[in-house]
Amino acid sequence: MTSKSQSLRSLLADVRSCEICTEHLPLGPRPVLAAHSNARILIIGQAPGTRVHETGTPWSDPSGDRLRDWLRLEPEQFYDEKQIAIVPMGFCYPGRGKSGDLPPRPECAETWHEPLLERMPGIQLTLLLGQYALDRYLGTRKKKTLSETVHAWKEYRPDFIPLPHPSPRNNIWLKKNPWFEAEVVPYLRRRVKQVLRRR
Ligand code: SF4
Repeated sequence: MTSKSQSLRSLLADVRSCEICTEHLPLGPRPVLAAHSNARILIIGQAPGTRVHETGTPWSDPSGDRLRDWLRLEPEQFYDEKQIAIVPMGFCYPGRGKSGDLPPRPECAETWHEPLLERMPGIQLTLLLGQYALDRYLGTRKKKTLSETVHAWKEYRPDFIPLPHPSPRNNIWLKKNPWFEAEVVPYLRRRVKQVLRRR
């Protein structure tokens, strides 16, 4: 249970010792996230894969390399939690299903997102990566498919930018939708630069 007066630091300690859905986690709990009360950009992805579970560093995999390229950020800036918070839909590796990793555990965002976001009042831009983040944060504003939602990115400005997951598994999607790298990525870079420049 969280109380309104709890600090972000103390809340993060609670998150890091969370065992709410242990029974569903094949490798056990290891929450991977980054948050700071001064953060200005929030990245909401899906859940760690095995590599991120091993390293404990978010986005320390090929998906992260592509995401940093989309944002045009060096690792040093990307991992500065005073600027960029990384709060995925599920903080622990959820295991593998028939067609890749399982969805983020639903208990996770339900339990932790609201108290975490309440303690980061300076967030000016939220990047929503993949269907689970779009479902939770755009709700009825999202379109029928992820592609349609990303294509309608202008509707969600200035607070949100909907994005496909940068996983190499999405290479075919990126090839089929060249407008994404031609229009959305340049806007994303401009907007990130603008927000990080502001004090
Ligand atoms: S996935 Fe989230 S809810 Fe489940 S144990 Fe990890 S931190 Fe807790």
